Amino acid sequence: MNKNNENKEIFEKFTGYCTITYRLLLYQTNLEDFQKTKELYNQTLLHYFQILVQHPDWLELSNMQLMRQLELHSIGSKNQKKEKKEVSYPLNHISAKIPLYFRRAAINAAISMAKSEQHQKRSLKLPLSSEAAPVYYKGMYRNFLKHSIELKLYHENSWYWNTYSFQGRSLPTQSKTLSPSLKIKGKKVWLHVPVLIPVSDIRKVTTRIRDKELFCAIIFPAGEIFAVAVILDAFGKEQHIRFFHGGAKHQHERNVQISKLNYLSSGELMDSKHNQLLLEKIQRINEHYAHCISRQILSYCESYHVKILVVPNYSKNFRYKKFPIGNTIYEWIGRKIIHYLDYKAFQQGIVLTRVNLKNCFNTCSFCGATLLSLKNKKEYNCPNGHRGNRYLNEARNLAKNFLAYYPIETKLGIKEKKK
Ligand SMILES: [Zn+2]
Repeated sequence: MNKNNENKEIFEKFTGYCTITYRLLLYQTNLEDFQKTKELYNQTLLHYFQILVQHPDWLELSNMQLMRQLELHSIGSKNQKKEKKEVSYPLNHISAKIPLYFRRAAINAAISMAKSEQHQKRSLKLPLSSEAAPVYYKGMYRNFLKHSIELKLYHENSWYWNTYSFQGRSLPTQSKTLSPSLKIKGKKVWLHVPVLIPVSDIRKVTTRIRDKELFCAIIFPAGEIFAVAVILDAFGKEQHIRFFHGGAKHQHERNVQISKLNYLSSGELMDSKHNQLLLEKIQRINEHYAHCISRQILSYCESYHVKILVVPNYSKNFRYKKFPIGNTIYEWIGRKIIHYLDYKAFQQGIVLTRVNLKNCFNTCSFCGATLLSLKNKKEYNCPNGHRGNRYLNEARNLAKNFLAYYPIETKLGIKEKKK
């Protein structure tokens, strides 16, 4: 995995990058050591935070200077060590042996905690406890390979190296891994690895529209159709339409699992291991489809050289609680697909933007007339005689709403065209 040097050249070619966190599940049988390591990390973090509480003025220093200052007062300089001079805030009471890079990660965590408190204009107060996930700098991990990693762990006042296999998506080849952190959740230990992925195109939406790039507006209906996409140019001229199918198959797979769930006589879902496993399975089915559709949408966009993805700006007050088994899967799957599109698109040089759905459902995209009742109808009829697929109409309206955000650029574009 350590391809940093190899990738250096690749990285210089690109204009930007994005960071994506990969979650790897470690196969381990020594949970206690992971917990002890985390405990020690947090004790170290709080030790340094306590020093900052007593010297808030030090926070004026740069992070590098502050690191030096804190180490001088807790470890001492080489000379101080030689002369066996005592430091004001020794670490010994936590552990006699704290590896350099473990300590530095904890110091940096303490610094950013203190600086964020200060930034929010709160007075520095030592928290009662800290549950930070230990960040592993180089020196605390090594041999980060495709399926395994070596980690340094704490056990009875000493440190040891151990190799762990892990399970998770494989990291992209053109990437740079940053310091992973250890997340302990129940009996499971995860390694969260931030990965820098190069991006070739970092232009903003405004610039892309000014450069007259194509854009694709997508809406997410219920039922058999997962998504309806319409590609337009910056002047609003339609280039292509695509319907993404498969909703019925997805619903069927979900329903098979949902029918196996056990309910109490009151109709409430039973709190059992059996149900828990089924719910996880349903969740995986949902995620699988959301991944599939997002991939299909992206390859469609790529094949037409689309540079902007326009998706609905769904309201935030959405109750996730009902899922994954709720009946109104419509908004859920749309949100999930958008979530996946968001990070996948950027890697491919496509930027995603969220646009208001105002008037998308009930307006004719040809003439702007208000549509009459649409309940359960797939086709729409406009009072002025326009008709067609209602979802396509919605996607066209979404595209219109998007273009309405960029009136100056579009008008300029039209003027240029007339010349
Ligand atoms: Zn009409």
